[in-house]
Amino acid sequence: MNDLESSASHIFEPDPSLVELLESASIGIIILSGEGMILYANPESLELFGVTRDIVGNGFEELFFFDSVTETKKLITAVFKGSVFQKQQIIRIKNKENEPIWGVLKLSPLQHIHSEKVVLCQITNISELKDYEEMVAKQSHLLLELINSIPNNIFIKNKQGEFLLANVWVSKLMGVNSPQDLLGKTDFDFHPKKLAKKYFSDEQEVIRTGKAKINIIEQVVDSENNRRWYSTSKLPLKDNKGDIVGIMGIGRDISNWVKEQKALRKAKIKAERADQLKSAFLANLSHEIRTPLNGILGFSQFLKQSLPEDDKKHKYIDFILANGKQLLHQISDIIDISKIDSGQFPIYKRNFNLNEMMAELEFSFREKAKQLGLYDIRLHLESELKNEHCDIFNDDLRIKQVLSNFLDNAIKFTQKGEIVFGYIIVGGSMRFYVKDTGIGISDENIQSIFDRFHQVDFSLARKYEGAGLGLAIANGIVRLLNGEIGVKSELNKGSEFYFIIPYEKARSTTSVLKESVESLLKNKRVVVVDDMKESYDMLEIILFQNEIEVIHPKNSNSFFECISSRQNKIDLIIMNMQTKWLDGCSSIQKIKTINSRIPVLLLLAELKSMNKEECMAAGANDFIVAPVNHDQLISKLKKLFI
Ligand code: ADP
Repeated sequence: MNDLESSASHIFEPDPSLVELLESASIGIIILSGEGMILYANPESLELFGVTRDIVGNGFEELFFFDSVTETKKLITAVFKGSVFQKQQIIRIKNKENEPIWGVLKLSPLQHIHSEKVVLCQITNISELKDYEEMVAKQSHLLLELINSIPNNIFIKNKQGEFLLANVWVSKLMGVNSPQDLLGKTDFDFHPKKLAKKYFSDEQEVIRTGKAKINIIEQVVDSENNRRWYSTSKLPLKDNKGDIVGIMGIGRDISNWVKEQKALRKAKIKAERADQLKSAFLANLSHEIRTPLNGILGFSQFLKQSLPEDDKKHKYIDFILANGKQLLHQISDIIDISKIDSGQFPIYKRNFNLNEMMAELEFSFREKAKQLGLYDIRLHLESELKNEHCDIFNDDLRIKQVLSNFLDNAIKFTQKGEIVFGYIIVGGSMRFYVKDTGIGISDENIQSIFDRFHQVDFSLARKYEGAGLGLAIANGIVRLLNGEIGVKSELNKGSEFYFIIPYEKARSTTSVLKESVESLLKNKRVVVVDDMKESYDMLEIILFQNEIEVIHPKNSNSFFECISSRQNKIDLIIMNMQTKWLDGCSSIQKIKTINSRIPVLLLLAELKSMNKEECMAAGANDFIVAPVNHDQLISKLKKLFI
C-alpha cells in the first residue's frame, strides 16, 4: 500500500492509471476535500512547496501565504459545491525556504467513480514570469520618465492616427489631464479640423512612402487657444517584420524662434534699406563727381590738342589731366571699399579660360609699361596649366582686378629688373602671384600693408601716387572669393604679392543652372494677399526661411497702390482667393493691366475651387492648394521665377 492509499483511502481512491498520471505530471497537483483538507499531493507539488507527503491530511493553509488563504478558501467551497466550475487565480505560495513565491492556481471539481467529490488544484510557479513583468514595468516607467522629461512633444500613432503613446507635453498642449487620456484618440478630437487634416495627411504620406518628414513646420492651436509653431519630425514606425504600422513623432516648440526671426527679418529689411540708401548715395555721388570730372578731362584733352606744340600751357593741361585721372581712380576705389564694407560688392562666378585671362593682362600691362616708357623692366607671364585644361569656374573680373592692382603696384615700385606674374595649382587651390625686383617693403610696414589708407611713404612729397586703398580692396575681394592674401618682401630686393583661392574646374551647364536656381529665391520680393492669419503666417515663415521679402497689404487700396508704385520691384503676387476684400478674377485682370510681367500664384482652398478656371483664364500663372507645404510652394516659386 502506498502513501496515497494509506492516507486517504476512506474518501479518495483513484485507480492506478490516474495515480500514475498525477505522479508524473510536470505541474504541481494537489487534491483537496471540500473543506480544504489535503488528500493528495503529487511529487511536483511537494517539490514546489518543499514539503513531504506528511502534509497529506493537513489543511491547505499550510502551503499558502496568509493573504491568499481567505480568498482561496471561498473558492474551494464554491468549486466543491459546483457554483463555480473552473477558476484560475494568481496566489502567493510558500516555497522550501518558507518564502512567498508567485503561482497560478487553477481549481476544478473532480468526481471519481470510486470516490467522493473532491477539488483538483493545479499549481504553476510563475515567479520568474512575475519578476520579468516587474522588470518590464520598471523599464516602461523609466522610459516614460525619460520621454516626459524631454521638453518636446513625443508621440506614437497607429495607421489610423490614434495615439498609442504620448508624453506629458502632448497632453498639456491638448489640454487633457494625462497622456492616458489621449490613447485611442486622434488629432481630430482635439485640433481644429483644418489643422488635424494637415497633420493626418502628412502622417499618411510617411506611412505610404516610408520616408520620414524631418523638421516640418506645423501650426498648432494650444488648449488656451493660442497659436503656436512647432518644428516636427515624423518617422515611420515598423514592427519586427519591418512592416510600417504607424508613425512616431517628435515636435519642438519654435514659437519664440519664429517671433525672433520675424523681428530679425524686420530689422534686416530696415538695415538693408539703410544700406541700399548708402550705396545709392555712393553711386549717385560717384556719378555726380565723375560726370563733371569727365567733362573737365575731355575738354582739357581738347584744349591740349588745339594748342600749338610749343605752347607753355601744355604743361598746365598735363597737370590737370594727370590729377583728374587720379581723382577718378580714387573715386572708384572709395566706391569699391564702401561696397565691400556694406556687403554689396558683387561677385559673379562663371566659366572662363584662365590662360586667356592671364594673356589679356599681360598684353594690357605691356602696353602700359610702354606708355610709361619703362623699358628697363621685363614683364613675364608663367601659366601652369595647358590651354586646353584651364577652363575654370570663378569670377574672372575680380581675379583680374586683384592682379591688376598687384601689377600696378609692381610697375609703380620697380625701377628696373623684372616683374613675373602667373599662377600655380596646389592641391585644390590656385595660387596667383606677382613678383617684382622693386623697392621692397620693410618688416615693420609689411604688417599693416593690407589695411586701408596704408602707404609706406607718408612723409615724402608724394613720390608715388595712390590713396592706399588698392591692397585693402584686393584683400576684401579675395575674402569674398573664399581665399587668402599675402605678401613676402625684402627691402631693396623686391616683393611677391599673392593670393590663394579654391580651384574649381568649369562646371557643366546644368550644375551652373542649378546653382543659379538656388540663388534665384534670395532677396526676391513677394506680395502676399491673404487676410487669413493662419495661412498668411505659414506663407510668411516659408518665404522668410528662403530669404524672400514679404509685402503684406491689408486692403485693396494699399495692394494696388503697392503694385503700381513698386511695379518693377515686385517678383510675384500670391493671392489667397478667400481674401474678403479681393475680387478674384477682376483683381487679376487689374494686376495684369498695371503690369503684365508680375506672375500671380493663386492660393486655393481646395483643388476644385469654383473660380479657379476663371482666374487662370484672367491671367493667373499657377495655383497651389492650402494648407501650404514648404516643398510644394518653393518648387512653384522656382518655376515662376525662372
Ligand atoms: P596705393 O594705391 O597707394 O598704391 P595700395 O594699397 O595698392 O595703395 O598699396 C599700399 C602701399 O603698399 C603702397 O603705398 C606701397 O607703400 C606698398 N606697396 C604695395 N605694393 C608694393 C610693391 N610691389 N613694392 C613695394 N611697396 C608696395
